[in-house]
Amino acid sequence: MTFCAAPFVHMVQNPDGQFRTCCMYEKPLSGNYNNIKEAFDSDENKIIRDRMLSGENLTECKKCDIDEYHNGKSEISYRQTFNKRYEKKYIDEPLFKNLEISVSNKCNFKCLGCGPRFSNQFGPTISNNLPNSKDFEKLEFLKILGGEPFLDKKNIDLMKMIPRHKIELMLVTNNSIFPNKEILNLLSEFKTLNINLSIDGIGKIAEYARPGTKWNRFERNWNKWMNWSHDKSYCNIVPHFVLHSLNAPFFDEAVNWSGLGFSKWSWDFLVEPKWLNVSYLPEHLKKYILDKSVNLRQPLKNFLMMNQYDKKNFRKLLSKINVVPDEMENYVDLFYRNL
Ligand code: SF4
Repeated sequence: MTFCAAPFVHMVQNPDGQFRTCCMYEKPLSGNYNNIKEAFDSDENKIIRDRMLSGENLTECKKCDIDEYHNGKSEISYRQTFNKRYEKKYIDEPLFKNLEISVSNKCNFKCLGCGPRFSNQFGPTISNNLPNSKDFEKLEFLKILGGEPFLDKKNIDLMKMIPRHKIELMLVTNNSIFPNKEILNLLSEFKTLNINLSIDGIGKIAEYARPGTKWNRFERNWNKWMNWSHDKSYCNIVPHFVLHSLNAPFFDEAVNWSGLGFSKWSWDFLVEPKWLNVSYLPEHLKKYILDKSVNLRQPLKNFLMMNQYDKKNFRKLLSKINVVPDEMENYVDLFYRNL
């Protein structure tokens, strides 16, 4: 499949002010635009749409190709999500209906696999302006990312200025902050609510994979979200796990810990940075990960087969490993076998 509805309805604003056709699209738009609407209506975005409509297989969309190949994500691919929601309704008259926004990179975590673009724990704080409220007139879906969204008051200003009852909100948080009553009231006014809690392991593994995590605090906030949402049919609390070379064998135990059941989770296989991508690991580690994975066995198998062991990449992974928690020792010991 080559057609994707995203360029006809969607835009991403990153913390550094760059605009993208979607977060999976390999390149940001290259022009300087004053606001999202200008970027959405730009000539270069029109060119992307025309290429889609001509049947071209866009190389910039390779993340969606990868996801459709291994067929393993909870939503298969972003392309399928957009196509399911919008079909080809807006190909003649594109309409800005769907936004993903990071108003800044303010964050209190320094996660493996993240970098300065999305966390100021790696470098300077970057921040951009809120969109104009009239850009939200037709908006029906909003995804708020950070940094950590609850650390930046601009996200609260954003929630206040939009027609909440018409909008489905997805908010991605590291779960270090449980919002106050005022913010909870704002959240409860959205048409639907998806609170996406990033979790890349439990206990000490969570603290290792996402430095900044305090597991006690994570559990406390987890319970608060579960209590707050239990009588709200419009609200879903969705744990999200990104599998990479250091945490992949521990996905199933996180699912078991949650008590929610596998179908309530979302997950992804990390592709970049390459040194954390499980498909470049040596065969004996791939086998270990597969043996530990019941829930994701087939898609994981497909993903692992996409690349061969890459020695240079593996050396880089070894150079990045610090002291690991006891819970990871058996796994990490295997890294040094056969070297
Ligand atoms: S195919 Fe995927 S990467 Fe390309 S525009 Fe659609 S969602 Fe984005």
